[in-house]
Amino acid sequence: MKIFTSKAELSHLLTELKKENKNIGLVPTMGALHSGHLSLIKTAKQQTDVVVCSIFINPTQFTDQKDLEKYPRTVSADIEKLTEAACDYLFLPEVTEMYEENETWHLDLGYLENILEGKFRPGHYQGVTQVVFKLFQIVNPTKAFFGQKDYQQVLIIRKMVDILNLPVELVMCPIKRNDEGLALSSRNIHLSDIEKSKALLLSRALLTIRDVSANHTPEELKSIALNILESDAEIKLDYFELLDKDTLTTLNNDSKGIVALLAATIGKTRLIDNMIFN
Ligand code: AMP
Repeated sequence: MKIFTSKAELSHLLTELKKENKNIGLVPTMGALHSGHLSLIKTAKQQTDVVVCSIFINPTQFTDQKDLEKYPRTVSADIEKLTEAACDYLFLPEVTEMYEENETWHLDLGYLENILEGKFRPGHYQGVTQVVFKLFQIVNPTKAFFGQKDYQQVLIIRKMVDILNLPVELVMCPIKRNDEGLALSSRNIHLSDIEKSKALLLSRALLTIRDVSANHTPEELKSIALNILESDAEIKLDYFELLDKDTLTTLNNDSKGIVALLAATIGKTRLIDNMIFN
């Protein structure tokens, strides 16, 4: 795997590959890679000719400076995992390579921006779209691969692609979980063993309502999930919502599916999870 820190060098190479009609797949990450990330690389390898993974801890999407500072950094292990996964190129830029000083960005993302994660992390999706737009410009991917784990993020990026008419196909990949159901996340590193066992209640709540969804109203499902989540006082819930899976608006007769989304803090670690059902 070849590693690039310069956007110009990476762009140059990829432009040449595009001339040879190669399809480029992009997998943007912030590193501390786990099997969730690697499943995106695997899907990208199946669907495109050349796979570029980026590792960049994007400062503009962090609303809390401490959260940015304590974000796990494991670059050498990440390089090993990507090499083993036969990723073709790694883009590993410094902050100064990605941003000019005092650079500004604003995209009107409408309703989606200020609900759920956007409400709890104001400005987060401006930072996300800012960096993903830059990565799209540098890599010019045929397809870009994102995890369902960050469900609202996928809808936000889809919206950006629509607004700016960007020539990229988005692929949403399923959530990878550990054997007990916990959604894999770089932040799980911060959980103690006890916290990890408490965190299992998050996926348990989602799996439970998915299994009984055919026989209950959304209100009943929400109350079943809340009963599970509130059974442990250490779980500080930011939100639990059952929404229309395509729009993240309130469920209505036209809804083609439900997505249940939650965010909770356990100890000092904030976790998100979600599940789609029909
Ligand atoms: P991150 O490094 O957390 O920004 O994640 C990079 C990409 O990996 C995003 O598209 C995430 O949604 C995706 N991702 C993170 N965790 C998982 C997981 N457990 N399963 C599948 N994809 C994931």
